[in-house]
Amino acid sequence: MTGAERGDGTGTTTGPGSRPRVVVVGSGFAGSHAVKALARSVRGEADVVLISPTNYFLYLPLLPEVASGVLEPRRISVSLADTLPRSVVHAQGEVDELDLPGRRVQWMDPEGRHHTITYDRLVLAVGSVHKLMPIPGLDTHAHGFRGIPEALYMRDHMIRQIDLAAGADDPEERRARCTFVVVGAGYTGTEVAAQGQLFTRELARDRGLGQDAVRWLLVSRSKVLNGLDDHLSATADRVLRDRGVEVRTGDSVDEATADGVRLTSGEHVPTRTLVWCVGVRPDPLIEEIGLELAEGRVVVDRTLAVPGHPEVFACGDSAAVPDPGNPGRFTAMTAQHAERQGKLAGRNVAASLRGGRLRSYRHRDLGFLVDLGSTDAAANPLHLRLSGLPAKTITRGYHLLSMPGNRIRTAADWLLDAVLGRQSTQLGLVRSTSVPLDTSSPEVPHHPSMPFPPERGGR
Ligand SMILES: Cc1cc2nc3c(=O)[nH]c(=O)nc-3n(C[C@H](O)[C@H](O)[C@H](O)COP(=O)(O)OP(=O)(O)OC[C@H]3O[C@@H](n4cnc5c(N)ncnc54)[C@H](O)[C@@H]3O)c2cc1C
Repeated sequence: MTGAERGDGTGTTTGPGSRPRVVVVGSGFAGSHAVKALARSVRGEADVVLISPTNYFLYLPLLPEVASGVLEPRRISVSLADTLPRSVVHAQGEVDELDLPGRRVQWMDPEGRHHTITYDRLVLAVGSVHKLMPIPGLDTHAHGFRGIPEALYMRDHMIRQIDLAAGADDPEERRARCTFVVVGAGYTGTEVAAQGQLFTRELARDRGLGQDAVRWLLVSRSKVLNGLDDHLSATADRVLRDRGVEVRTGDSVDEATADGVRLTSGEHVPTRTLVWCVGVRPDPLIEEIGLELAEGRVVVDRTLAVPGHPEVFACGDSAAVPDPGNPGRFTAMTAQHAERQGKLAGRNVAASLRGGRLRSYRHRDLGFLVDLGSTDAAANPLHLRLSGLPAKTITRGYHLLSMPGNRIRTAADWLLDAVLGRQSTQLGLVRSTSVPLDTSSPEVPHHPSMPFPPERGGR
């Protein structure tokens, strides 16, 4: 029986007698929680296929700790095989074509082969990528910060700059190599600057340069952590300034070159490091499929279903979900929203397969946590304003509870970091060309001779 025959507008594409198939695209916060909730709800009465380019769930909030040598990359890359229900099939690859009328998804696997699959229900949870701007030199000289390859590149790059500075005879070159510019003071830029500064100060001290040789600039048009609670914003701003990070609000970058950046204020800053954390935009796949978009995100109703396509659901960063707490606005791009929306999408897909009632998205703001390295953090759990060690303890406890796995290994790395110095070997495995800023796949290292990942819709 087809959906048209049933008259519910959803339909099935699988043959008579076979189980309906749900395809979930993306294994981040939204996608991985969607498949878990779905598998639990359908209890074997539907096939669940998860398509994503990595075989792990990436716990993004701890990525700055990978770049700064606190955590090893596998700690925050939690194996899907170990954490997803066994009934879920993971197809490793990147979706490069979606045929909504034909209910067909095409993806490329890591060896460059194409595969297609049909679906009865589709969940889009493809997240977001770097937001670029038409600034001369930006895509050549800046790097973003959204995936393991970029974090590994940054870790090596920071160590390399300090090593080369230690060996440089020219004081200007030494100064430029010890200068690091981060643009964007959202949670990503703020945490990268906070963690990176501590790491490079330690390196500079160990290499005989003196920790004060290191200079970090956090450049942002708006205030630090703009949009978050004032307490978080003020705490992060104060901690960074007290440590000597130059916080330049009301400023941006006009030009990037191989040996420096020109700020909008006119100042030229000699540097070899430009980290671009100026917001995100939804994955380019979303622009290509012809659904209605708002702020670049797929428009969904309160049940996370796409209007006019009751068989398609979207959640997380790539979905424009009406915010029940802020009428007329969409929910922010945060892990908290993505996780809860993923769970709801999974349950609603299951309900739609059973002909049950779909629920609307609701959430209660539980507060936000920002780790600033060392014993510093800013947090407002349940709107309790915390900073310093209490905030740090809550932040780390929260992360450990939120991670779907690798908790003991992560805690062990934190313990080791507290008692031992950080390792400062450069492995050089991820080169600058492998992590272009202008990419639709920040989670995968690029290589010019490899077909994977498929490049889709540049900027
Ligand atoms: C450095 C950093 C720190 C952050 N810290 C915080 C924080 O402290 N608190 C907070 O609330 N939020 C934080 N965020 C934001 C939060 O991580 C995101 O809002 C959240 O990850 C969104 O979840 P998502 O599932 O929509 O997307 P993601 O988690 O990004 O997952 C997207 C998934 O889709 C896959 N995908 C993309 N394109 C395709 C395709 N074509 N085919 C198949 N699969 C595809 C990706 O590989 C990935 O598996 C941080 C983000 C960053 C980058």
